[in-house]
Amino acid sequence: MTFVILENTKLEHTYIKVIIMKKVSQILLFTSLLLGFTANANIQLQPGVSGAWIAGASGQGIFVNIARVNDQPNFVVAWYGYLNGEQIWLVGAQTFEYGIETLTVPMSITSGTGWDTSFVESDVVITEWGTVTIDFSDCNVGTMQYSSNDSNYGSGSMALIRLSNTDGLSCHEEQVAQGSIEQQSLAFMREEEKMARDVYLKFNRDYGQTVFSNIASSEQTHMDAVLNLMNIYNVDDTSTGVEGTFNNSELQDLYDALIEMGSTSLEDAYLASALIEETDIRDLDEFSAGITATDILATYEKLNCGSRNHLRSYVSKYEQLTGNTYQVQIPELATQVAEILSSGNEQCGR
Ligand code: ZN
Ligand code: ZN
Repeated sequence: MTFVILENTKLEHTYIKVIIMKKVSQILLFTSLLLGFTANANIQLQPGVSGAWIAGASGQGIFVNIARVNDQPNFVVAWYGYLNGEQIWLVGAQTFEYGIETLTVPMSITSGTGWDTSFVESDVVITEWGTVTIDFSDCNVGTMQYSSNDSNYGSGSMALIRLSNTDGLSCHEEQVAQGSIEQQSLAFMREEEKMARDVYLKFNRDYGQTVFSNIASSEQTHMDAVLNLMNIYNVDDTSTGVEGTFNNSELQDLYDALIEMGSTSLEDAYLASALIEETDIRDLDEFSAGITATDILATYEKLNCGSRNHLRSYVSKYEQLTGNTYQVQIPELATQVAEILSSGNEQCGR
């Protein structure tokens, strides 16, 4: 029993550190508000601006794709328009760093060869056309200034109106301050979900119970969901690709302690697993209370829903095995856990 009490102390320590991190970031955010850093007219360039945009008038426009090439964001744009009755395609790409709001992309026009089987790569002539400079005042409206070397096109400016999004990719209009609570929570949750996955992978090898392998795969989808948000919110993924090793030393300690806790018996492995799910629920609730970004909140609720189901599974396995009634392990969650365990499994979305 002493061991369990020790573990709770360790959990509290992690918890307090997270709270302190949040307070610091709230102060930083408040300071930047005072200094007017968030008064910018444009949103940051981000994966969520990918999609089709009307340029100037319906029937002409650009396709934008924020690609990742050689581990760097790449703004790829294809512009379809017309000149003297002929269709014109312009293409361009430019690497950039997240955090900027406007970008100039060199554009080219190609000619010189034929259709399909008449196409000869060596005949392609790439003509430097000029540049476009693009920014977005929100997720649905932008501006494209263009300047061509060719007097047939000249220079000018076109309004961009969003025609379509990339499925599953959200665009955010809030400034994401470096070190913001959003960024900190994503980096933390990525590794906390990894910790859950890695513990269950180990328990699956030790005890061969499918509940561990099933929930380990579910934790992998949770890790993937957080990584998707990290790309959107410009957070480097510092989690290791190695099972059982963690960048965050608190989570490393917690992993080591949980593996030890569950090494004694299957019964203890179920208890350690239920403790992970309680921890996950508490941390997701804490982070959610400090965040307003709807895409992060929606993902955290999906993860929380998954954790509630996982907790129900582990508690049910524990009670079947031992005949004991499960006792909540994080005292502050007593009411919440009782509610979870007295209700059935939930559908948590994709
Ligand atoms: Zn999870
Ligand atoms: Zn879980």
